[in-house]
Amino acid sequence: MNQQIETGPREAVAAPTISRHHNVPVAYEADIVVVGGGPGGFAAALQAARMGARTIMVERFDMPGGVHTSGLQGSADVGVGGIHTELMQRFADEGYIYTATETTHPGWAGNPLSHYERNKAPGSEFRRMTFNPEGAGCVMAAMLQEAGVIALYGTSFVDAIVEQGAGNDRITAILVENASGLQAIAGKIFIEASGTSELVARSGAPFVRGGGGQPGGTGWDGVERPIPGGLLWTMNGIDFKKLLAHQETAKDPLLQKVMAEAIAAGDLPQGVYRPRMSGKFVYGEAYIGHPTLDMSPISADGTYVLWQNVPYEWALHMDDNVADHTTAKRALRGFVNAEAKFLRKYVPGFESASIASIGRFVGVRDGRHPIGEYVVNIEDVRAGRRFRDAVTAPMTKTFFWEGFQKHTFEVPFRCFLPKKIDNMILTGASLSFEYRTLFMVMRNFPWCTQTGEIAGFAAARCIDKKIGPKELEWTTPYF
Ligand SMILES: Cc1cc2nc3c(=O)[nH]c(=O)nc-3n(C[C@H](O)[C@H](O)[C@H](O)COP(=O)(O)OP(=O)(O)OC[C@H]3O[C@@H](n4cnc5c(N)ncnc54)[C@H](O)[C@@H]3O)c2cc1C
Repeated sequence: MNQQIETGPREAVAAPTISRHHNVPVAYEADIVVVGGGPGGFAAALQAARMGARTIMVERFDMPGGVHTSGLQGSADVGVGGIHTELMQRFADEGYIYTATETTHPGWAGNPLSHYERNKAPGSEFRRMTFNPEGAGCVMAAMLQEAGVIALYGTSFVDAIVEQGAGNDRITAILVENASGLQAIAGKIFIEASGTSELVARSGAPFVRGGGGQPGGTGWDGVERPIPGGLLWTMNGIDFKKLLAHQETAKDPLLQKVMAEAIAAGDLPQGVYRPRMSGKFVYGEAYIGHPTLDMSPISADGTYVLWQNVPYEWALHMDDNVADHTTAKRALRGFVNAEAKFLRKYVPGFESASIASIGRFVGVRDGRHPIGEYVVNIEDVRAGRRFRDAVTAPMTKTFFWEGFQKHTFEVPFRCFLPKKIDNMILTGASLSFEYRTLFMVMRNFPWCTQTGEIAGFAAARCIDKKIGPKELEWTTPYF
């Protein structure tokens, strides 16, 4: 990896402080306040409002959906029940599902440029469903509106007002910043759905920072690094047939020959493309360290989503360090720009392609991991542990760090309950899961939507019964 990065100015270690005391208007009061509108927050707000709770959701971008809309992920799956199934159906009804198969994309299965189908036998059957991220965001916003959720967009959660109790603490309000300025939103139950556990951090609940010890050891130099985040972007106008013909006739399946040509001509900076980490550290062949191009069909014929991941060795903590955050945004947009220019100039099939969109944020894969009343870990999964407060019937999932082994296990409601704060419920990527368990399988779109629905249900139940989430007796699986 020859690419040099210039990090932005670092924050001063012993920064001077400024005191700012003033009254903040309580702009809204609600039963349930949801921080973040990704799959977890969306489903939580929808479910709570449908059960009659006065619900407010704050979202810093302009639509719900998180990584899957604002972040352009767009993977659609077969419905797993509840709101997830309803959502998939609604996307289909509104014409936002696009399905690629061996018939629409002959030569895609087994193609080394394919993000998902590269390991399939050439010519084999495949079915890749995606939803159009922008269209999906419109549908999700409409669904929240229909259910009576007060969804505030362009609204950033900035802090939590916490009241100290004899035992645990309680959040009484959150502070948000938006077009109206600094506002407070008071509530009874708060749902953590920021994807990076910001509500947990600001309210003083315990968590483990991303980048903890990873299976297979730490990096080659002993440094612990977060699993890198990534920026997704889309290009349209790609002629895949022409690209495939080039790969075959030039005997250049990974486009390494054209890359070498572009680098020699000074048209492609060294390091834009990284070698696949082939079995090293946590990634194996399955994950990050994409070799060349890494793409997947999305939204419409000729349109593909491409991945730009933070190089592993940079060890950026984008969720809690603004210099790292800025570096990731600037550097990855630079990579996207270089990659797009290279593709158009050098690679047959891309001559008429153009950048369609770039994700609104660099997604964090390994941010803070809250410590809940129970932390689900890999041993629970391996042992197939059962819980009296299981939220679903036993689930069977494939764990790729376990040699693609299948495990059947349950998840207890206690991992939705953070330690120290009595009136908060966790969802999505912010559940109390040990990161190996979370990263391997428990952070996908269907599961995050399910956990959101469970959180919304639990919160509304508590409002109804006038109890806190930790007093809620959970005896029957929801799914
Ligand atoms: C690069 C990348 C690729 C991925 N690929 C896949 C994949 O192929 N398939 C799959 O199923 N899953 C994938 N995932 C995982 C999946 O996208 C996440 O685990 C899932 O989106 C988490 O859902 P969430 O609702 O917890 O958080 P998020 O989707 O992160 O949503 C959080 C929301 O909260 C908002 N928010 C955050 N902070 C604030 C704040 N302070 N104020 C207001 N709003 C705030 C954000 O804008 C966002 O909309 C990927 C994740 C990343 C990062």
